[in-house]
Amino acid sequence: METLPCQGCRGLCCGPVAVTKQELIKIKKKVNSMPSKIREELTNQKRYFGTCIFYDLEKDKCGIYSARPEVCRKFGYYEKVACFRKPELAVKKDRGPIPEIAGILSIDYKWDYFR
Ligand code: SF4
Ligand code: SF4
Repeated sequence: METLPCQGCRGLCCGPVAVTKQELIKIKKKVNSMPSKIREELTNQKRYFGTCIFYDLEKDKCGIYSARPEVCRKFGYYEKVACFRKPELAVKKDRGPIPEIAGILSIDYKWDYFR
């Protein structure tokens, strides 16, 4: 399958995203399982205003990849969440139930919530 050209974007599309209660639990577990040195380094990065609190600027990737929310997994590959760099890849149809949103990551839930 063709993939998105994310390398080098430096978190361009990683802003505040919607999260569910279940996702918050998963992220909390992930954050607490990180070696404390890595967690602290990730916490203290100087991100642009509006960049997701978990975006790893130094490694140019998601800092919680295996626990990232559903919307991040779908981004670029589903209709309505097309990436402007390769909109032709956004072809999948979202037929599942609309999840109940607990809030917005980076706005309602910041680092303090997860530690
Ligand atoms: S989804 Fe698109 S905008 Fe986001 S990092 Fe990948 S290529 Fe860049
Ligand atoms: S959780 Fe990860 S993939 Fe989702 S917006 Fe934040 S850094 Fe990007």
